Amino acid sequence: MSRRPFLAGNWKMNLDRKSGAALARGLAARSVGWADRDVAIFPPFVYLDEIVRAVAGSSVQVGGQNCCDEKSGAFTGEVSAAMLKDVGATIVLCGHSERRQLYGEDDRLINRKLHAALEAGLEIILCVGETAEERESDATEQRIGRQLTLGLAGVDEAMLGQVTLAYEPVWAIGTGNNATTAQIGAVHSYLRGMLAGMYSDAAANRVRIQYGGSVKPDNIQALMRVSDVDGVLVGGASLKSEAFLPIVEVAR
Ligand code: PEP
Repeated sequence: MSRRPFLAGNWKMNLDRKSGAALARGLAARSVGWADRDVAIFPPFVYLDEIVRAVAGSSVQVGGQNCCDEKSGAFTGEVSAAMLKDVGATIVLCGHSERRQLYGEDDRLINRKLHAALEAGLEIILCVGETAEERESDATEQRIGRQLTLGLAGVDEAMLGQVTLAYEPVWAIGTGNNATTAQIGAVHSYLRGMLAGMYSDAAANRVRIQYGGSVKPDNIQALMRVSDVDGVLVGGASLKSEAFLPIVEVAR
């Protein structure tokens, strides 16, 4: 089964209005050559509106890095999934490891956010990944399996069409140590096997699974050759077009 490659850039809390818009306009201008792949960028909330306008008319998707699990109300500092949709975002990250580790988001909260996003009509990228300690103690599958089953609780096979998974080992994010192709292949195939058990072989085969963790222009080709890797979620290297373009334009 051939799945469309999905290359995504998470800007985290970086760039400003001017540099973000310039980067987005540069990507949009190149996107005419990207008919065989999907590309998304995730700017900070306050720039979403501007970045949506910068890529208007192109195939580049714009997404939120997070959303609230509630629809509206007294939730100071939060942004709802409907608000993301309202400014033109089409997708949102759920369960990024920085949200889990730095802001205490657990699997149940992430699951509620995921449902809020799906209900608002957004696509989602559900991020899963083990810490260095979990890998060293052979608990990788247990950790990722739990993140997957709790993260997707209540998501039926039809809704699964709006879901992409990102395997992001915590120890590989922003460290320059990316996982080996063997480690990545093993986890991706484990995830697809889990999906087949939770849904069906056909549904599992349709879900795209990205890898994330120190993806760079010099390792993208090898990563994309790993079976079951359908794309990448990129942090640091998505902030400059010189680094992000060679990743997005990886040969198929
Ligand atoms: C990320 O933030 O999802 C990520 C993978 O970051 P980096 O590419 O910088 O490791």
